[in-house]
Amino acid sequence: MRTLLTLTFFVLLGHIANCKALPIRSGRNIFNKLLVISFDGFRWDYDQDVDTPNLDKLVQEGVKAKYITPPMITMTSPSHFTTITGRWIEDHGVVHNIMFNTTTKEKIFHKETQNCSEWWDNGAMPLWITAQNQGLKTASFHYPGGGANYSGQAVNRALVESHTHPDSNETEWRENIDIVMGWFSQENFDFVTLYYGEPDKVGHRKGPETEDRKAVIMQIDRTIGYLIEAIRRHDLTHRLNVIITSDHGMTTVKKNPEVNEIKLSNYINLFKLVDFELLDYGGFGMITPKQGKEEEIYRSLLNAHPNLTVYRKQDIPESFHLAKNSRIQPIVVVGDLGFNINSRILIYVNRGDHGFHNGEMDMKTIFRAFGPDFKKNYLAEPFDSVNIYPLMCKLLGVTPAPNNGSLSFTQDMLTFHGWVSLMVVFYLAGGNASRSQMSFILVAAMVFCMFIM
Ligand SMILES: [Zn+2]
Repeated sequence: MRTLLTLTFFVLLGHIANCKALPIRSGRNIFNKLLVISFDGFRWDYDQDVDTPNLDKLVQEGVKAKYITPPMITMTSPSHFTTITGRWIEDHGVVHNIMFNTTTKEKIFHKETQNCSEWWDNGAMPLWITAQNQGLKTASFHYPGGGANYSGQAVNRALVESHTHPDSNETEWRENIDIVMGWFSQENFDFVTLYYGEPDKVGHRKGPETEDRKAVIMQIDRTIGYLIEAIRRHDLTHRLNVIITSDHGMTTVKKNPEVNEIKLSNYINLFKLVDFELLDYGGFGMITPKQGKEEEIYRSLLNAHPNLTVYRKQDIPESFHLAKNSRIQPIVVVGDLGFNINSRILIYVNRGDHGFHNGEMDMKTIFRAFGPDFKKNYLAEPFDSVNIYPLMCKLLGVTPAPNNGSLSFTQDMLTFHGWVSLMVVFYLAGGNASRSQMSFILVAAMVFCMFIM
């Protein structure tokens, strides 16, 4: 008896303390499946000025974080890759939406980078691959990075967005859900990431404070209603966990004549001083100076504009988790919220944008979750999106690759972490214990779980 109790105690304690995966018993995964949906550019408060009955229902049915903080840089590919790897941007190396080469001066834009493994595969292993290597079946549906190979390995199934893919077609959104439900229910996939390009697109084109944006949020809400119905139709309600999240928020671009816009050519001669640049792309930019010109550029930009901050690479705040990567260029410029970094002329047409400091509330984004392993009606405190990775590993029973996240920010959302351990212990102990011994162990473990959960 004491042996069994001790075993129970240490298995539970070890499991919780180390956040390690539980064993997958002879190929039969005892863990539930996981669907992660990203709605690009879904600012944390987009559901607060529009009627969203399905999102509201999910608050009752599952977990809502007040908001989550994306990594610095608040940009699509860097942020999505932080979510799927659990690594800061300086560690995973996808430092911009644009793939670039400062030597050849080549620039490849966001959607064209999706099959470019040399941009994504920098040593940080995304969860699809780690999970596959531990026996799970995974898929990526349009999720950034899903189309690349990692150490030569492709995701089991990856659909990559075409350059001309329509971002806003509600019928197609539903068809994509049906496809993914089929992967789970008919093909036994364990982990799927599903990406939608809205409300980012409407936020850029029309602005975040518009009726057009509200209409897209209502479309997303209807799509979530369709998802809930599809989960039921495919009999997945009790075996599928769902996380709904995003990569960054959105803010209204400040323009002339309301403000004095940032135009770097007012302060430096880009032709003479700059060898390579990533500018005119929201609130974040990078510059590679010509030989011997770094100090001149830095000094010229240092107090050039009250809403512009310039960093030499070595001075980038540690809290950005950026400076260590070789792809970060010698000069980094960041605009205050709403101030885009223009290079030579003010032709920027977007009404909304991101890329600004991740501490700004307009850059914060959403986290929702529901399913058999999540508590109901649970409001979580804000956390960094880098912490989604260990949560996904926990839900799938995958031993995590090295990462910068922590389960401590999310484990209270879960109903199951002690109980699954308990079931495993019972399974192991069942052959040797009498019914009265089993009952005693059950009660002891329940009391133990009540104290630690
Ligand atoms: Zn995005």
